[in-house]
Amino acid sequence: MKLLETKEMFDEEIKGIYFRTTEFLNLSRFENLFYECGCGQDHRIDCLDGAEPLLAATSTLVLYRCPNGFVSFVRVKGFFTQEVITLFSGREKYIGTAEDLVAEILERQ
Ligand SMILES: [Zn+2]
Repeated sequence: MKLLETKEMFDEEIKGIYFRTTEFLNLSRFENLFYECGCGQDHRIDCLDGAEPLLAATSTLVLYRCPNGFVSFVRVKGFFTQEVITLFSGREKYIGTAEDLVAEILERQ
């Protein structure tokens, strides 16, 4: 997992990725999967323990915010056996609030 320390790092990481809002996601199918977060905890992919999906690039490539104020970009790989990879994670205090990031991404594309 790459830890982001600045807004510039965040912008670089998401460059060229097209994001959608998350209504189409069906996260409840990922029952026992967790992602590693920059806050030091693992959070459920299906969000039952408090993380929330912000935006998604695909149904298995999702940007989350956790209750501890970290934004993470997470990929679920595989079909029968699934593996979760956290591509990056960054503290909102350093990279910008989730609300600002989402608004900026949606405005830009
Ligand atoms: Zn977290």
